[in-house]
Amino acid sequence: MSTSTSALGETLVDAGSIRARIVEVAAEIDARYAGADQPVVLLCVLKGALIFSADLARQLSIPIEIDCITVRSYGPDTRSAGEVELVKGVTTELQGRDVLIVEDIVDTGHTAAFLQRNLVELGARSVRLVTLLDKTSRRARHVHIDWHCFRIPDRFVVGYGLDHGERYRNLVDVRAIDVV
Ligand code: 5GP
Repeated sequence: MSTSTSALGETLVDAGSIRARIVEVAAEIDARYAGADQPVVLLCVLKGALIFSADLARQLSIPIEIDCITVRSYGPDTRSAGEVELVKGVTTELQGRDVLIVEDIVDTGHTAAFLQRNLVELGARSVRLVTLLDKTSRRARHVHIDWHCFRIPDRFVVGYGLDHGERYRNLVDVRAIDVV
């Protein structure tokens, strides 16, 4: 558990905007996979993308399966460790499958790059990425993002699945947090 203190700051993305944007992005994803010969594997990156994945999944019309993966790229503080560790892998056989990674946020890009490489190695036929938030200013490596909902400035954020020391995931808005 984090020992630092923190203060919730302003709302960067409110719940209504998230709802509306997910409808738009889901329509684009539906169009991209229309006519696919098998269900798309929606791969939720735990725990941060849990709530986004649940809301996105319910806006999609294409056939999907859902699986989850747990990776660790952040310690208890707010800095990226740079190294990504697989904590719990998928249970679905991904050979020949279309996989859509669902991320909460792409920051440095280390996690997304790690996942994309990993899924290709597992034999996925296609690997695409949708993220709720894109913090472009901190990108340390190139990652291709197929869909993003919102670009945000270089602030540490919580809410709508994102935590600080496991707190705040249940906030309905995405809010900045000042970590002291
Ligand atoms: P990356 O590997 O792109 O640097 O980081 C991806 C992961 O770092 C995200 O899945 C998320 O868990 C965490 N992360 C990056 N920025 C933030 C942030 O502003 N707030 C929170 N709560 N987590 C973040």
